[in-house]
Amino acid sequence: MALSDDLRDLYQQVILDHSRSPRNHGQLHGEGCIHVHGDNPTCGDEIDMWVKVGADGKVEDLKFEGQGCAISQASASMMTVKMKGADAAKVQTLLKDFRAVVTGEGTVQDEDALGELALLEGVQKFPQRVKCAMLGWRALEQAIQQSGEKTQQA
Ligand code: ZN
Repeated sequence: MALSDDLRDLYQQVILDHSRSPRNHGQLHGEGCIHVHGDNPTCGDEIDMWVKVGADGKVEDLKFEGQGCAISQASASMMTVKMKGADAAKVQTLLKDFRAVVTGEGTVQDEDALGELALLEGVQKFPQRVKCAMLGWRALEQAIQQSGEKTQQA
């Protein structure tokens, strides 16, 4: 019992910390930067994500701005910390693993890499919250897709 209380406290601390002072907050401009907007109308969350993807699929830099509930903003902030500098393989693993954590579907491959993000598994019970938690992640996925299409066209 004590452990689960501790975990709940930790979860609240982490979410509050990231939603109050989001990491990698702001915009990115310049060559190769992709801008994606995502929203979650049921909750009123919005995310603008700027991503610079290298030719090898590495996330060289990313920043975001947004508004909405604490979970949507904290999840996006935590994601940027993990994704900055991640190579293509790591990005895909993180995306898959995080989806598994918040939906409860599938298995997590690399729990260590997720770190504090594993705390968000509590949203499994609330389908609306899953959308909040995934908002920033879906935006990044979209940006990476777009960068792949760009590379193919070039
Ligand atoms: Zn929300």
